[in-house]
Amino acid sequence: MLLAQRGFRVQVFEKQDVIGGRNAEVRLGDYRFDLGPTFLMMKFLLDELFAEGGRRSTDYLQFKQLDPMYELRFHDRSMLVHSDPQAMKAEIERNFPGEGASLDRFLARESQRFEKLYPCLQKPYGTLASMISPTLLAAVPHIAAGRSLYDVLGDYFRSEELRLAFTFQSKYLGMSPWDCPGLFTMIPYTEHAHGIYHVMGGLSRISEAFAQVAREEGAEIHTSAPVKRVLLDGRRACGLELESGEKIHCDHVVLNADFGHAMSTLFDEKDLQRYKPSSLRKLRFSCSTFMMYLGLDHTYDTEHHMIVFSRNYKKNIHAITNGKADLDDVSMYVRNAQKSDPYGAPPGHSALYILVPVANNTSGLPWHEYKERYRAKVLQLLRESTPYGDVTPHIRQELVITPEDWEKRQSVFLGATFNMAHSWNQMLYLRPHNQFEEFENCYLVGGGTHPGSGLPTIFESARISANLICEKCAIPFPVAKPLELALA
Ligand SMILES: Cc1cc2nc3c(=O)[nH]c(=O)nc-3n(C[C@H](O)[C@H](O)[C@H](O)COP(=O)(O)OP(=O)(O)OC[C@H]3O[C@@H](n4cnc5c(N)ncnc54)[C@H](O)[C@@H]3O)c2cc1C
Repeated sequence: MLLAQRGFRVQVFEKQDVIGGRNAEVRLGDYRFDLGPTFLMMKFLLDELFAEGGRRSTDYLQFKQLDPMYELRFHDRSMLVHSDPQAMKAEIERNFPGEGASLDRFLARESQRFEKLYPCLQKPYGTLASMISPTLLAAVPHIAAGRSLYDVLGDYFRSEELRLAFTFQSKYLGMSPWDCPGLFTMIPYTEHAHGIYHVMGGLSRISEAFAQVAREEGAEIHTSAPVKRVLLDGRRACGLELESGEKIHCDHVVLNADFGHAMSTLFDEKDLQRYKPSSLRKLRFSCSTFMMYLGLDHTYDTEHHMIVFSRNYKKNIHAITNGKADLDDVSMYVRNAQKSDPYGAPPGHSALYILVPVANNTSGLPWHEYKERYRAKVLQLLRESTPYGDVTPHIRQELVITPEDWEKRQSVFLGATFNMAHSWNQMLYLRPHNQFEEFENCYLVGGGTHPGSGLPTIFESARISANLICEKCAIPFPVAKPLELALA
């Protein structure tokens, strides 16, 4: 969309028969679901991307800010998380007496961190010199070096469960709060400061809206058009060969395929230097997800987003990180979109989306065996630990996706749904570069490059790579607005 808006002739080749990748729509009979993302954060960035082409996001998408943002269910209590600070403080006080005022400290300190760190996510780190840019240097006092997300939250909140209420967001990065770098307090901060949005019709509408704008700007989008390999002229990318045998020659190649998948399928091993398929497993990858999409002939007056914590969350996360199945004590996320949006299910019905974080495929878990066991566990948890009760008699449509399916059907390397982990040694200059270091004229976008996984960050990766292409071609492009203007 960005390149088409800036005057490039763009062709998109998508393997699947629908666009969107992880952010595509899933249809089961009369029910519609988002395949992956359900939380839209930092909507201001989406607005800016549409505004760049003289458009308004609201001409293409209808947003609904959620308040309460979500419900958290612990084994002994349940808590509503509000974006309104007064309501949130009252809810903290109700559940964790004496800790309500800590929210003000969290918001005040974290707004400074966000202000300094966010501009670092908008720049490329293709050279070592970029690591000493004034923007990055100004952010250094705020990076919480050597501290985990869980540690940093301890600066504000005493109770274990309250800390978890602000750290479970590391799920978006597929990491454990005890491993995840402390600077990612940015995620809970931006939720509380800028809100969480639903897109009417589902977040997959965002992908469809990007495609619509791209087409309006002359881009051609080919679905069911798998790419077989990237064509090279020495160390320069010069086109694509499709599975159909057709060859497409072009000036610039932008790779959006999952990074590990692209490295293991789109190049010859001999042509790769740093990211050879045989060395990819030395990188750290995120966890995976076990998914259930249920079309139900019943409606539920439950929150739009509900997170159910396992009794021993740390043990559960530890098992996932270490490639183990922890069927006794799982955590799960349930999304009841019909709470806010009638689209997606016939009247009187619901389209329930359930996500269970699980180990990625380095675990070697036999999913043909575990699939039924996880399914039974999810249904049991819904029955025993949530207001949904026994949904089994209401199931009219059902789809289950395991880590194996993510890898085989959705081309996600190791089924690591949130891509490469966001550890210190895999960020900024140490993450695959937006101007891909292996080949000239080859650019990366998506969760495998800088800044990383999650919708807002992959949108930034697209903007960074589009800017780099424009710089190379000496084509002027709009500079990202300073944060205070983007938020205005
Ligand atoms: C279950 C789940 C829940 C999530 N929840 C959230 C959330 O609530 N909020 C949030 O912000 N983020 C969330 N995320 C993360 C977010 O979805 C991802 O970071 C983002 O969508 C990844 O985008 P991408 O472009 O990197 O990859 P993808 O969306 O996977 O895009 C890659 C595309 O490349 C295509 N492709 C691969 N190989 C080829 C080939 N050879 N030829 C042609 N095409 C090919 C694929 O079909 C796919 O369409 C979630 C992710 C998952 C999986």
